[in-house]
Amino acid sequence: MKRVLVVGAKGRVGAHIVRGVQAADDLELAAAIDVGDDLAATLERTKPDVAVDFTTPVCVYDNVCTVLRHGVHAVVGTTGMDEDHLAQLDALAREHGVACLVAPNFALGAVLMMRFAEEAARHYPSCEIIERHHEHKLDAPSGTARATAERIAAARAEAPAAVGETENAPGARGGRIDDIPVHSVRLPGSIAHQEVLFGGPGETLVIRHDTADREVFVPGVLLAVRKIAAHTGLVHGLEPLLWPHA
Ligand code: NAP
Repeated sequence: MKRVLVVGAKGRVGAHIVRGVQAADDLELAAAIDVGDDLAATLERTKPDVAVDFTTPVCVYDNVCTVLRHGVHAVVGTTGMDEDHLAQLDALAREHGVACLVAPNFALGAVLMMRFAEEAARHYPSCEIIERHHEHKLDAPSGTARATAERIAAARAEAPAAVGETENAPGARGGRIDDIPVHSVRLPGSIAHQEVLFGGPGETLVIRHDTADREVFVPGVLLAVRKIAAHTGLVHGLEPLLWPHA
């Protein structure tokens, strides 16, 4: 039985994770805490094997540092941490002999979307990303859009042809991640959606993923909880767990 602490347990995703852990025969909910609860005291009292964080970009780094310092593995869904944060978490996890898995998206379809986009980028240098999320999302672009853009930029063999453009409304051409335009839409009625568009002469290839319910994140998070103990230090995304020999 792995004992799991859920941080951000009253949140939109956290509440699903709590139910997922409770429903799993091989997992036990050590504690479920939210804003105002004492994370360090909970770690000391309940001694979980793994802590899952779905909180906010403002508190996630401090939360995860506290988790790792207690010698507990961390599975992190909260987006918004930069490369410096991740490097520091890697060092801290190694120092304490545990792993810290940070995934921009725990939905299997989204993981496949990023992998397929990486493959398409080898053939189509011209690419743009449109991501759409609910109106309460705190950061833009999404962590998934950022990760997708970084992987496309690393995979494509040549730079896209320059576009001679005038931006008559500031931001009309989106933000840029590694020179890839990223457009972030925030609308009520949305959960998490992304299109990666590739253009070639006379054709468009669209790779699209839609999330219809936040329970989509539960299987990926539970997979990470079950497999994280085989790792040490920072683990980027679900891919090393899904395709360990790739
Ligand atoms: P949410 O509904 O706002 O949930 C966050 C929860 O964390 C809230 O209950 C919040 O309480 C609580 N919280 C805030 N500060 C805290 C602290 N210091 N300690 C403990 N709990 C704290 O957000 P969500 O939609 O569930 O998303 C959470 C994060 O996950 C976001 O960064 C989102 O972008 C990300 N996300 C990632 C994935 C993925 O697959 N990687 C998927 C979906 C979402 P209050 O509301 O009272 O502040």
